[in-house]
Amino acid sequence: MNENNFKGVQPHSKIPKKDFSSLEGLTRRRKSKAGEARNVNPPKDFDPCPQLRREPGELTQPGTPEPQKKPHLKPGDIVGANKVMSVTPENLLIVQCTCGKAQEVTEAELLLSVGVCRHTNYGRYSEEFKHSTLHKDLYKAWLQMCESNAVLMRSIYPPWQSFRQFSFDVGEGLRKGWRFVRVVPAIASPEDSPGCFAWVSAPQARNIARVGLPIIRLKKLGAKSLVKIAVELNISVSHIGRKLAAGDTPELVYLWLVEQRRKKEQKEALQNK
Ligand SMILES: [Zn+2]
Repeated sequence: MNENNFKGVQPHSKIPKKDFSSLEGLTRRRKSKAGEARNVNPPKDFDPCPQLRREPGELTQPGTPEPQKKPHLKPGDIVGANKVMSVTPENLLIVQCTCGKAQEVTEAELLLSVGVCRHTNYGRYSEEFKHSTLHKDLYKAWLQMCESNAVLMRSIYPPWQSFRQFSFDVGEGLRKGWRFVRVVPAIASPEDSPGCFAWVSAPQARNIARVGLPIIRLKKLGAKSLVKIAVELNISVSHIGRKLAAGDTPELVYLWLVEQRRKKEQKEALQNK
């Protein structure tokens, strides 16, 4: 501390006097140290973020629903537990749940709310719902099938609107960790049927997702899915992917699969002798 700094200095002697003549003068900020007063208040016409200021536009009238586009789904289509019964002139869908309850919904609402019936009757859930809570793995498979069809705005196999019917039809094939996947592409079978699906192990499901569903068109038998043949023969779909990537045509792969089937049948015949 240098004592010379304090010589002849009175407290506050270097701080300017406050201006009491106007309110503006009083609110004016000063530097903490003595010196020229500095006005930091922004000018009156200063707008810090003009992009946020908008003229109030015309508000949409509350209570007027947006006009619906023409739905992709048609009467008779099944989305999850709901069946499309009819389409109203306003393009809304009248759907009926497995429990019998009918509702008016938009197509988007229907496609986004796939699941088993959750309606209650006198406080009781339906048998469909109870069944889904007892067979969780099976329900997951059913839900996945319904959701992948909903994404494509396609109907599921009509009897499988009922999750219980689905579990009676294919429930036996479920093994731990297995998935219920499509093995026949939509171009070969435009409408879903039990034959389009198969239970496969998780690695096989990954192979199918990677390879896709290549088909071959035969003169007599029509379009055939190579993946379906491989799954039936218990051959890894990765073989198909490898052969196709190596430049083999689907016809060559099909002949290879037929050869594998013949060998398998021969082996089984020998074992049974
Ligand atoms: Zn219901």
